[in-house]
Amino acid sequence: MNTPLLEVGELKTYFPIKSGLLQRTNGYVKAVDGITFSLNEGDTLGLVGESGCGKSTTGRSILRLIEPTSGSIKYNGSEVTTMDKGTLRKLRKDMQIVFQDPYASLNPRIQIGSIIEEALSTHNIGQNAKERKEMVMDLLEKVGLNRTAYERYPHEFSGGQRQRIGIARAIAVNPKLIIADEPVSALDVSIQAQILNLFQDLQEQMGLTYIFIAHDLSVVKHISDKIGVMYLGRMVEFASKDDLFSNPSHPYTQALMSAVPVPDPTVKKERIILTGDVPNPSNPPSGCTFHTRCSSCMDICTKIAPRSIELSPGHVVSCHLYDPENMQKT
Ligand code: SF4
Repeated sequence: MNTPLLEVGELKTYFPIKSGLLQRTNGYVKAVDGITFSLNEGDTLGLVGESGCGKSTTGRSILRLIEPTSGSIKYNGSEVTTMDKGTLRKLRKDMQIVFQDPYASLNPRIQIGSIIEEALSTHNIGQNAKERKEMVMDLLEKVGLNRTAYERYPHEFSGGQRQRIGIARAIAVNPKLIIADEPVSALDVSIQAQILNLFQDLQEQMGLTYIFIAHDLSVVKHISDKIGVMYLGRMVEFASKDDLFSNPSHPYTQALMSAVPVPDPTVKKERIILTGDVPNPSNPPSGCTFHTRCSSCMDICTKIAPRSIELSPGHVVSCHLYDPENMQKT
């Protein structure tokens, strides 16, 4: 069997909460609290959940833009968490990120051509400046921009065009894995579809693997092969897209799913409204952290955290409703 491109095992990223004059640590925000999944080359994983559930921290921890607290990240079989800086720098060529707000990540005083060229020269791609310029021109065309964009500045572009520039910069170094962190959330719906299509076209052309982060299941629905649903730092359900949409099992997934619009107006679907806000991750609820908002909450849910149950091959859910062992105790 082929080695997965990416294997994440029990990944935890905790942020210390410091207080007092001596800035002593008196607790932790468990932003990512034991995430496990694997991806094969060419896969797209959609990571969904409300804001503050740890999706972006998961993405940044995989790239080690944030240092994970514990757990394992294997890229092509090599452990990333213990890599020295030199090896990590080389690996960064393979693993790129596209941010939600491309404007914030583009220096307003630098021409687009130079922004993309910088990515090439950082990784010693291209023999000389002339060759790099030609490569940037090709990249601009590849993401659907005019070659004249080379000499223009970020403020001269619309949100969708700026996201195309962010994508051009990410693919410039010929990566294998792209972590797209809410890349269409700030865009109008019609522009969202164009950018999603661009991601799909590039995947076909370049054989890319994606982790696609979004707060909305309808955004990841078309692009993903696998979907992970996160709540308060944990993966509460993980499945292939088809399994998740045909058999959403965790009560949180069911609530997110009920908000996905159906194209057929004759199909009536009951909307599950989640009450209350996401609890404070520095002081999460006991037992199942979703119990404060779950309409199926049982006594055991307030005391014991559910374990992961495999409902069918590759479809894993963390909920007492599916755990035969715990159900016998209730
Ligand atoms: Fe709801 Fe209990 Fe399942 Fe948590 S474990 S999602 S509270 S039924």
